[in-house]
Parts: sequence; C-alpha cells; structure tokens
Amino acid sequence: MSDPASSGSALVLDGCAVVTMDGQRNEYASGHVVVTGNVITAVGSGSAPPGSLPGPGAAVRRIDASGCLATPGLINTHHHLYQWGTRGRAADATLFEWLTELYPVWARMNAGLVRDLATAALAWLARTGCSATMDHHYVFPPSGGDLLGATVAAARQVGLRFHPTRGSMDLGASSGGLPPDDVVEDRDAILSASKAAIERFHDDSRGSMLRIGLAPCSPFSVSAGLLAEAAGLARSAGVRLHTHLAETADEDQYCAEHFGCTPVEFLDSLGWLGGDVWLAHAVHLDDAAIGRLAATGTGVAHCPSSNGRLGAGVCRTHDLVAAGVRVGLGVDGAASSEESSLIGEVRQATLTARAAGGPRAMSVRQALELATMGGARLLGRDQEIGSLETGKLADIALWRLDTLAHAGIADPVAALVLGARPPLELLVVNGQTVVEGDQLVTVDEGEVTANSRRATVALAQR
Ligand SMILES: [Zn+2]
Repeated sequence: MSDPASSGSALVLDGCAVVTMDGQRNEYASGHVVVTGNVITAVGSGSAPPGSLPGPGAAVRRIDASGCLATPGLINTHHHLYQWGTRGRAADATLFEWLTELYPVWARMNAGLVRDLATAALAWLARTGCSATMDHHYVFPPSGGDLLGATVAAARQVGLRFHPTRGSMDLGASSGGLPPDDVVEDRDAILSASKAAIERFHDDSRGSMLRIGLAPCSPFSVSAGLLAEAAGLARSAGVRLHTHLAETADEDQYCAEHFGCTPVEFLDSLGWLGGDVWLAHAVHLDDAAIGRLAATGTGVAHCPSSNGRLGAGVCRTHDLVAAGVRVGLGVDGAASSEESSLIGEVRQATLTARAAGGPRAMSVRQALELATMGGARLLGRDQEIGSLETGKLADIALWRLDTLAHAGIADPVAALVLGARPPLELLVVNGQTVVEGDQLVTVDEGEVTANSRRATVALAQR
C-alpha cells in the first residue's frame, strides 16, 4: 500500500458522511475528502471532482468509504503515558490516596519500561481515533535514564503527532508537599532538563510532529518558585505551559491552607494564566475563576472519565464554554482512566454535562468539537489540525457506522458520540496510515501488548 505522503500520491475517501468542524460547521451526508501528500486538498459533497486529484502518473488510492463517517482526527490534551503500567491499582481511592499508593511504584521506572508502556498507551489512543496527543511526564527517578526520549521514540513508532511536556515535582513531603522526597527533583536540575528538552526536541515548523511544553505537576507537588521560573523559561523559549489544577476538593483545601486563596488565584499570582496555558481538570471553579480563565484565554483539558473514576467532581463544562473558555478533552493517565479511549471521552463528556446541567448542557456536536477544534486550540495548532478543510494537515478518522451497533442510527454524529465505539476503518496522521480496518498498521498489536504486559510485571517486581 502506498501512502499519500510519498511524492505525488493522493488518498481519496469517497461516499462517506463528513463532519468538517470548519468555520461554518459544514457537514455532508455523502461526501469526499482528498489528501495529497500530508495535506487535505479537497473536502465536499458528492464524489471527489476529477480536478481535485493530482495529474496523470500520480498514484491515487481511492477508498469506497460508504457506511463510514469522516471526522477530524481526535486530539488528546491530557495524558500520562507511563501510567499504562499501573492500571487497576487503588481502584476505589481518592486522588490523594491513589497518588500516595502509586508514587513509590512510579519511582521505579526506567527508560526501557517507559518505552514499552508509552507505546502501548499511544497504540490504544490511535485505535480510539486519536491522531495527536500530549503527554505529561512528571516522575524522573535519578537512575531512570532518558524517559522523555523514550516517549518521543514511542510516538514516532506509532505515528501520532506528539506534544510531550517536560513535567516536574520539587516539593517533597519534608517540605510540605504530597509526594515522597525520593520522587521529587531539585529545582535547578528541573529547569536545566526542561531547557535541554526544548533544545533537543521542539519543532516549531508548520506540520510539526513534535512540540515540547513545560508542565510542573500541581500546586501540592511543586514550589511557587518552580512554577514562576518554569513560566519564564517557557515564555522565553516560545513553548506552552500545562499543569493540573483544581482537580479535587482536597486541592482546594490545600491551597486555602498553604496559600490563603483558591487554586486559580494561586496560579494567577504567579503569572500562570494566559493563552499559552492549558490546565488539566479545572473541576472546582467558582464564577470568578471561570471569569479569569475566560479573560486570560487560559484553556482547560476536561477529563470526565478520570474525574468520575477518582470521584473528583463534575467539571462545569457548560459554564466554561458559555463564558468563552477554550476547552479540550483528555483521557488522563491510564491509571485513573483504564478505558483511555478518546472517542469514549467524547461520550462521557456529553453524558456528564447533561447529568449535571440538564439536556441542553452539551450537544453531541459540541462534544465532538471539544475533541477536535477544542484540542487543537489548546495545543496552539488550530491553524493546522482539528478540522477537515482544504490546506489543513491530513489528520483524519474514518469511523465505520454500518455494523450491528450503529446501522440505522439516524444521525451519524449521534451514532459516533452516543453509540458504542465504532470500528475505526482508517486513521490517517500527517497523510500516513496508522490504523486500517480497526487494526494498527504501524506497530504489531500483539507484540505491543506482550511488551507492555512484561513491562507492567517488571515494574511491579522492581
Ligand atoms: Zn493527570
């Protein structure tokens, strides 16, 4: 099979329903998407017009996509890939109990284990329609080796567009933080490793497959000094900032006791709100906090399954969206969201919003928008990905909706969002095929599974 990214070749999807997520939110009941190289060159109703294809001699792969729905590839805005190796632990715990049980296990990680676990987590994301993902890695044991490099290698192998963040913790238990002292790092070491990560990996070019961000972990595991210095470093280097915020009532209480303010006021005091920042969770927000996030352009990665799994609370997504806050979706680490399915998160976001705020709190199209254009905005990539439009990068998910679970559902978007997870007929990332016929083509799923199982056992026994 030739991929369209090879010179002069094209991929044509014909006869599918198309949800573009473009500025007019155009949808086509039967339409086409044409990809040339790594770029979308035509989208519209009916069959691909002959003029949209490359000239004679070019390799054209034409797929009869009838029975399918084409959407932008989904964008995951919060994850901890390494947590694939600690799934199913502390299954009935609060966040702080869960963290306290898991920190010592994570302290035993090394680059080999992270490579196998991250590959599995990324492969599963791809199978759930995700074409671009961030990663938030914040545990760097002294003898762990090149953990960030291991995740980058895994993303290259699986073929996803990757936005890893160099995470960090410098506030151990002896200084009033939650994590034990042996999993935190020295502040200067964190800042120099962050700078090195940007210099080594960050690719700012259009179409980039790899961009770095900085992500000190949370108010209860990071010092105010590190937060401020990380923000300064990120802004001087032109990379984005990310952290966990306002996830649980425990954190609210921690901030009140230690800083005499709310989590959002704490970040605000450190210059940490802005259009280059996105926050994971943001569950416990008052109206003033929502107003500040909107006014500063700060984004939110909504992780409804993880919030439910840990009983953290219900994010006020309807109020955030209504206030103009930029919101994307995240599966969060697999240890607090074993399903780790991005299309599953779209469904969960819809149901959670409606359960809390009534039937009009979130439409199925709004939920899909959070996972596409919403995520693209958080990562600063909305000019490149997040919609199916001529000139955008070819990140496309093609969902099969003509099997037992979905055949006959009147609205394809309702079928995708409210129905079971459909077979993923095709996932194209940057013009390259990553999944076809609901099977990974870039990696051997059996091998990935065996390696991740072995890594999980090894991590438990170290
Ligand atoms: Zn997280």
